[in-house]
Amino acid sequence: MKKLPLHLKILLGMLLGVTFGLLISQFEWGKGLVMHWIKPFGTIFINVLKLIAVPLILASLIKGVSDLKDITKLSSMGGRTIGLYLLTTITAVTIGLSIVNVIKPGNTISDETRTELLSVYASDAAAKQSVAAAQKEAGPLQALVDLVPSNIFAAMQDNGNMLQVIFFAIFFGIGIVLIPPKKSHYVKDFFDALNEIILKLIDLIMIAAPYGVFALLAALVAEAPSADLFKALGLYTITVLLGLLCMTIFYLILVQLITGKKIGFFLKGISPAQLLAFSTSSSAATLPVTMERVQEHLGVDEDVSSFVLPIGATINMDGTSLYQAVAAVFIAQTFGMDLTLGAQLGIIATATLASIGSAAVPGAGMVMLVIVLAQAGIPEAGLALIFAVDRPLDMCRTAVNVTGDASVSLMVAKWLGKLGKPKVKNRNDHY
Ligand code: ASP
Repeated sequence: MKKLPLHLKILLGMLLGVTFGLLISQFEWGKGLVMHWIKPFGTIFINVLKLIAVPLILASLIKGVSDLKDITKLSSMGGRTIGLYLLTTITAVTIGLSIVNVIKPGNTISDETRTELLSVYASDAAAKQSVAAAQKEAGPLQALVDLVPSNIFAAMQDNGNMLQVIFFAIFFGIGIVLIPPKKSHYVKDFFDALNEIILKLIDLIMIAAPYGVFALLAALVAEAPSADLFKALGLYTITVLLGLLCMTIFYLILVQLITGKKIGFFLKGISPAQLLAFSTSSSAATLPVTMERVQEHLGVDEDVSSFVLPIGATINMDGTSLYQAVAAVFIAQTFGMDLTLGAQLGIIATATLASIGSAAVPGAGMVMLVIVLAQAGIPEAGLALIFAVDRPLDMCRTAVNVTGDASVSLMVAKWLGKLGKPKVKNRNDHY
């Protein structure tokens, strides 16, 4: 076990977790046992990851920005980053729309199944609708207003306010660059050291990752609803998965073409982050590991990764936008609605914006899906149709979200001449 590389250990943890969950839920007492004695360890693991997220963003972004000798570099990096993020998100939505229009998974659902699904998940869907309604009432500039915190400590208190923390960190970093080094070096040294410490903590947390994902998956399987409902949604699931696969291939081709790095090298470096994203369903919780992998194992300079990745974790959700497009059309199909080209173009715009607005936490993509549905005139109650399979799809789309962020960081680094040799060849073996 000691010799196994980290991603294999995580994979083993996942497989054992699913098997254990399936076996134990055959017994009446099994579910209670998992909920009370196994799930808490999964929760602790996620909490530790979240615990580190805000300090990491602060330290790494402040360090990253203050390392830039001149501020114009920030705007060239910012422009490329946002441009690439938008481009990949629009590509993702387009791939999703194309596949769902070819496969047409919604046309296969029988009236019986539809009624069954709608009644089973109606209350869960209603809860998501009310959260989304509050977001919909806000004006068009609300997102901009929300970006700027009025109190940094309040912003840091809530892991959902990552963009505000990012805003503060960049602003603070700019301040450091603008004052003479003689005065700024105390603060700069402090954040440099803080950054190192946090990266070390991530190393320690990763030792526990295989056990954490075991607990998470065992609990997930034990809590799952009946298998019949899963079957009815099989084709829809396959459609989303196929789209996510195409998106991943798109990244791999981009990375190979633009950076010249081999696909195997990229996948080997990033796989622990992908597996963790899969297990936690949260890009924010995975951020510390994505950051470490990209820097140490893929050779992206810290200047770039500490800027590109935290922003990506919050605004670049290609897996989510692809899923939202497929889900919206799927729901329309099950209700027998024919979406016009105009309506589908509208979905491209709203799914892009909705994925940017989705928080990097489990289930957030589904909350924002309500807005996509409302915009396209698709009945929001249709959310109930896809509830049963949302969690497994969330796991997969989160892995794609993280892969997208990592790919963009490699490309931006290449363009800025900041892609070097990885510091660690195969540090996996140390875990
Ligand atoms: N769970 C996703 C993430 O954290 C967001 C979502 O699609 O629900 O990236």
